[in-house]
Amino acid sequence: MKLTIGHLYPDLLNLYGDRGNIACLMKRCQWRGIEARTIGFESEDSIDFSLLDIVLLGGGSDREQMLVCEKLKKIRQAFQSYVEDNGVVLAVCGGYQLLGRYYKTKDGLIQGLDLVDLYTEQGEGRLINNIILDSPLCKMPVVGFENHGGRTNIGKNRPFGKVLYGAGNDGESGYEGVIYKNVIGTYLHGPLLPKNPQICDHLIKKALERRYGDIDLKPLDDRQEHGANTYMVKRLMK
Ligand code: GLN
Repeated sequence: MKLTIGHLYPDLLNLYGDRGNIACLMKRCQWRGIEARTIGFESEDSIDFSLLDIVLLGGGSDREQMLVCEKLKKIRQAFQSYVEDNGVVLAVCGGYQLLGRYYKTKDGLIQGLDLVDLYTEQGEGRLINNIILDSPLCKMPVVGFENHGGRTNIGKNRPFGKVLYGAGNDGESGYEGVIYKNVIGTYLHGPLLPKNPQICDHLIKKALERRYGDIDLKPLDDRQEHGANTYMVKRLMK
């Protein structure tokens, strides 16, 4: 079995080392004998979505999002067909906001891809914190870190998780992120997948099933990752 990961715009959307998530996806495939490769697409490249099994759209500052938003118009149609065909996507922070209709900042409106019915508006101050979620995709709590000025409204969509600690989508609703088909949008930055290997495996499983039908993923020895997760939960939720 083989998986191809598409990393969209590592030249612009690369805050807080979101690319570490790709290293995690690759490694957890390789440890199971699944062949994995990553193609990085810079903002001028054209993208053949039929080659891709997992797409990562990382985080960016408002300025970078403004630059990316122009490029997105060119790939919108193909990206939408990929999503509707159950293509797997992980979109983090700025990338999450770009999945939606728009991101309104005090400097102007950034048009999104409009792949998921959600929108974001800049609020007063930034929501910066460690965060813990209870997600339907994972038995253990999801642990992470958030840093965003945007407040996201996901309408009737399913959230990625219920906030147990931290701010989440808007600091008020009690929910974080979004799940739409095989798309996860989330504000959880940096090493989301290394910290939460069950989410990593969820993405791998969905991607493999889309290409090869029902599969069972071989369990890996995640004692260290689980230990780190439990440590954070205990530290923050005492
Ligand atoms: N620029 C967006 C915000 O502040 C996203 C930032 C990010 O990716 N951390 O809301």
